Amino acid sequence: MHVTIDGRELEVEPGTSLLDAASRAGIEIPTLCHHPDLTPVGSCRLCLVSVAGRETPVAACTEPVSEGLVIETETEELAAQRREILELLLAECHFSGASETALAGTELGKWVQRYGAVRPEWSRSEPRFVSDSDPNPFLRVDFNECILCTRCVRACAEVQGRFVWGVSERGRETRIIAGVDTTMLEARCESCGACAAYCPTGALSDRWESPSNFQAEKVRTTCTYCGVGCQLDLNVVDDRVVGVTSVEPDVGPNGMSLCVKGRYGFDFIHHPERLTRPRVRRELLDGTPRPPGAPRGEWVEVDWDVALEFVTKRFTAIQQSTGPASLGFFASAKCSNEENYLVQKLARQVFRTHNVDHCARLCHSSTVAGLAMAFGSGAMSNSMDDVAESTAALFVIGSNTTEQHPVFGAMLRQAVLRRKSPLIVADPRRIDLAEFATLHLQQKPGTDVLLLNGLMSLILERGGEDAGFIRERCEGFEEFRETVRSYTPERVANETGVPVADLRAAADILCEHRPMAAIWAMGITQHTTGVINVLSLANLQLLLGNMGVPGGGVNPLRGQNNVQGACDMGALPNLFPGYQSVADAALRAKFESAWALSPTDGSVDRPLLETPGLTVTEMVDAAGRGDLRGLFILGENPLMTDPDVNHVRSCFERAELVVLQEIFPSETSQYADVILPGTTFAERDGTFTNTDRRVQRFRRAVSPPGAARTDWEILAELGRRVLQRQGRTPIGPHAGWEYASPDAILSEIGALTPQYAGITAARLDSGERLQWPVPSADHPGTPILHVDRFTRGKGRFHAVDHLPPHESPDAEFPLLLTTGRVLYHWHGGEMTRRSQGLNAIYPEPFVEISPEDAARWEIESLQTIRIQSRRGEFLGRAAITERVGAGVLFANFHFPDDRNVNNATIAALDPVAKIPEYKVCAVRIVV
Ligand code: SF4
Repeated sequence: MHVTIDGRELEVEPGTSLLDAASRAGIEIPTLCHHPDLTPVGSCRLCLVSVAGRETPVAACTEPVSEGLVIETETEELAAQRREILELLLAECHFSGASETALAGTELGKWVQRYGAVRPEWSRSEPRFVSDSDPNPFLRVDFNECILCTRCVRACAEVQGRFVWGVSERGRETRIIAGVDTTMLEARCESCGACAAYCPTGALSDRWESPSNFQAEKVRTTCTYCGVGCQLDLNVVDDRVVGVTSVEPDVGPNGMSLCVKGRYGFDFIHHPERLTRPRVRRELLDGTPRPPGAPRGEWVEVDWDVALEFVTKRFTAIQQSTGPASLGFFASAKCSNEENYLVQKLARQVFRTHNVDHCARLCHSSTVAGLAMAFGSGAMSNSMDDVAESTAALFVIGSNTTEQHPVFGAMLRQAVLRRKSPLIVADPRRIDLAEFATLHLQQKPGTDVLLLNGLMSLILERGGEDAGFIRERCEGFEEFRETVRSYTPERVANETGVPVADLRAAADILCEHRPMAAIWAMGITQHTTGVINVLSLANLQLLLGNMGVPGGGVNPLRGQNNVQGACDMGALPNLFPGYQSVADAALRAKFESAWALSPTDGSVDRPLLETPGLTVTEMVDAAGRGDLRGLFILGENPLMTDPDVNHVRSCFERAELVVLQEIFPSETSQYADVILPGTTFAERDGTFTNTDRRVQRFRRAVSPPGAARTDWEILAELGRRVLQRQGRTPIGPHAGWEYASPDAILSEIGALTPQYAGITAARLDSGERLQWPVPSADHPGTPILHVDRFTRGKGRFHAVDHLPPHESPDAEFPLLLTTGRVLYHWHGGEMTRRSQGLNAIYPEPFVEISPEDAARWEIESLQTIRIQSRRGEFLGRAAITERVGAGVLFANFHFPDDRNVNNATIAALDPVAKIPEYKVCAVRIVV
């Protein structure tokens, strides 16, 4: 349609609002109640514009364009009207100080200043509300500054899907309330801060905000917590991060959304417990190795030269005396692509071992293995925005998405609320997302293959398979079909606990709504059947023809901020960077040549082996046996996060030499011999790769504390020192360890990793959305995998049968324990337990128990209970809830010592992926 705005002729789509048409032409019309993310309501009237031929102005946010409209957005008359509207709004407000101070940095303040509005003399002289009336630790509430634009109400409902805020009363008594006039947290607020981010006046604001820091320097970066990879701005004053603010609505993957951890969990950066100087155990300083099992002595703070020289000498001595297999390296899913690349290069090139792994082993190694078997690529096939915006149905299994990947969880809620996408949640717990589900299938823990085979059997019975897709793009279908035939609804219902009617209803939804996006996380992967669970999900998507299309796909949600990147970088014992197998002679030759060193003596010159190295759990066991004598750990805390921690502790007690590069003292640091103080995400530069394969920058905003050094610099210096000590010089094109910056490492990664070949610092800085594979500098990236062909050629069906968990409840240990995360903490809690507000909301572990079991064991709500397994015990407060079924306990893994659930979990491993079965073990309650 043709319209004229302020004399400019424009062509716009029918249905576009006048406001959007003007905005696209770069013309700013003032608004308060309007926000591009929210449903327009046209209530504040600030966006009134003049339309030729109409007597009265119209609201630009709600008025659609029509052919030939001629619009004026700024006239003297409009300015006067806007001033009047603003003064009426100001009159209804009450500010505790000068209104100019209160409104500094707000949208209302901006328009007040532009139109010269003055708070009238007859304005409210007394506050209407008690200011700072809500105890939320992150948000300040002062409705005396509220103009009733309802952006908070709409943001909470439409963006977060939470409905905490509402409007109460009428006329001049109208006000915003939380819940039924209660506190935010009582109204089930998740403290995401969206209400404050969208509030244009400061009535709802972040507690860290003050007049002294609203002009803080903003540094754009990537969140350090989960794999969603939200973009955010660190607000910096005097070399300190004082707060976090949202990025612009059109910046992916999150726009203005953040969760409570990303927005408010930043105070760990300047926590007084930060490690700031290298340390070595006193008794080791003279170079004497630790006798097996000898206790560790006191720490001595040393300078970097002493610490790095100590590590260089001892690791070289071990390598030369008992061989490369005596050394092991833990990379880190919390660290950057560049740092993970360097750790595996250190292991492989310098020390000649594939003993390198990281915590993906403990969360998604079964996904990587299973999807590689089915499709040839172990990553999320589609993108988060694609799933949320294009899918016809959602199938979420084993993912507590709103707590573990909260911003993506909110996107899923939006898909249900706005697009009416049917949602099936399959989870042994009634997780929050189940409230939005068309169907909640509450299968017993450890019965996922039963459930999925049962659903696929019903789909086949209905003739719901995509025969054309199976014929043209798949193999192995017949054997698969024979296998699922025996999974009758009655058998599946009996063994999973899901009623037959629900199984049939789920199969109907899956057949009638395509494409469906399958989404999962650790509820699927952390089993001794992790790989076959993943293969079943791959089967389901092949059967329905949901692969390679927008809105479909396999969507495993990676946990840590850079677990995808750490895998991509080859921090795995069987793969070089880019999933290039160490078993492939040509690929070994490629890396031998790229990393070639001038030879010295034979003990360090052996070629890279074709056999994989040890996994993290195998390395811990080997250290306990004395087979692995030197362990280098970057940013991991196995004494908190590995299963059966008592066993892990006994291994670390006997370990000869443990070098830990960390930011805080941890359970593992108690067993370290050397500590190298590293840096947080706010103190260095690099890239993370999020769950949908998007490579993103994170940026240095503040200086490291004390003598702490950036992690990539520590690793690079170690590499240089070891080569120098061994008298070897780099001769291959990528053999050196002199890096001017992380960008130089990224460039080396691109040269050796086909998926990252086209990812450059310059492209990232330009804001390009780059999802691997990006095989060349002019390739736009790949938002959807497997579009025309699978990475392995044909998609492969696998005939898989149900296998029981390693340990099931019995007379002695009659309850089944399953574990997971909560919204307010992250992983081992090293950062979130040092965040004051997060800890205030969730200060101790709760154990969910059904009302039936609570009655049976005579347990009161919030009573501290002791949970015992065959391996150990932990304490937690009882949360009596119907979220779990009878016979099942749920506990989180964020708290240490006698509250660590991993004292009880089992180290039984999936035979292929070697992932432990965190999700099922047998326990009893001792009251
Ligand atoms: Fe950070 Fe994940 Fe929260 Fe986003 S959803 S703010 S990435 S923790």
